[in-house]
Amino acid sequence: MSFLWKQSKVELTPEQRLETLLKTTPIVDTHNDFPYLLRIQLHNILSPETKFDFNDEHLLNHTSLPKIKKGRLGVQFFSAYIECRYPDGLSQDFNHRTPIVRDTIEQIDVVERLIAKYDKDMKFAWTSKQAWDIYQKEGKLAITIGVEGLHQCDASIAMVRKYFDLGVRYITLTHNCDNPFATAASSVTAGLEDKGLTELGKECIGEMNRIGMLVDLSHVSYQTMIDTLEVTKSPVIFSHSSAFAKCPHARNVKDDVLLKVKENRGVVQVNFYPAFLKNPEKKSDKVTIDDAIDHIFHIAEIAGWESVGLGSDFDGIDNVPEGLEDVSKYPDLLIKVMERGATDSQIQGLMGGNILRVWKENEDVAKKLQANNEPISEGVWAGRNWDAHARSEKLPSLFQGAYELFFRKDTST
Ligand SMILES: [Zn+2]
Repeated sequence: MSFLWKQSKVELTPEQRLETLLKTTPIVDTHNDFPYLLRIQLHNILSPETKFDFNDEHLLNHTSLPKIKKGRLGVQFFSAYIECRYPDGLSQDFNHRTPIVRDTIEQIDVVERLIAKYDKDMKFAWTSKQAWDIYQKEGKLAITIGVEGLHQCDASIAMVRKYFDLGVRYITLTHNCDNPFATAASSVTAGLEDKGLTELGKECIGEMNRIGMLVDLSHVSYQTMIDTLEVTKSPVIFSHSSAFAKCPHARNVKDDVLLKVKENRGVVQVNFYPAFLKNPEKKSDKVTIDDAIDHIFHIAEIAGWESVGLGSDFDGIDNVPEGLEDVSKYPDLLIKVMERGATDSQIQGLMGGNILRVWKENEDVAKKLQANNEPISEGVWAGRNWDAHARSEKLPSLFQGAYELFFRKDTST
């Protein structure tokens, strides 16, 4: 009987299978640097005077509305990225003054204005449920935001909370510089010690868990990954990282970490940057869509199909793999993954089911911690300079000895 049943069942083509899956699951990309292009090329001016039109099918970069539609993208985490502004990438002077919080908020603002201008096609998602609904019920692209490094919080846990209030839903613990919370991969490759997560960093993870801010481990050192996976109460993400076993680059994730990600129920979102995909065992220098698929299958093999997704890094990379030139190419990638034997449920997880599950679990953990009255973190970086004007000691004292708590220590050093 079953033989006959199989005979009569109509085989769907991969294209038809993908169409069916797209009815229930959005394609989600967790890392796209498009807002940085708006910043450096247009100074974030979106009015017609700059001739920028997101609907223009001839835009030369990786991301535009016509390409997004062709690529069937459903949910995009735009990066509110601002580079490290310390004197050099290895500097440990975290009191160095920069306008980085202003600049980060400007990037959040430009994303909001972009959505407002193209609101027929895009809408901001504050929760994982909203992201599903904007895609499924409204047929629009759901947008959310990631901040690419705790250096953008300028050593302050308060900034983590305020970015959350502005709609940021993940923060990468480091970019290519250390900060008072964690060690970056780039610092270790340049010869600095891998100190992992600091005590304040551990407290910061606790606060991120408490408010529901996803912890992103792309760009961090090996020890920071290990330390974070030990203390986090929520599943973590790697918003744009690939597999170290396939391409031994410090930005990629080693197998022992992948096993811990599996335990943690987190997710590794494969980065398409050729330098992170290139397989040194292959003779050719050419990096193609098939290399990206090798990384997907490797992560799935070690961490499970519940722990892999897509984090292209489009518009933040200066070259692309053959076959993965821009955001229009996700369907090509998914069809090729099908052809290599992935099942429908595995493809659904890869498309976006996994990352949306992780987002939801972070929301659930936050709700639970808040219901248990987990205290708000007041952690402060011990090395911070607290500025005060010359006559501030003459202001009223809060109580006897209040000035002695911190103030005299600050001014005596
Ligand atoms: Zn990055």
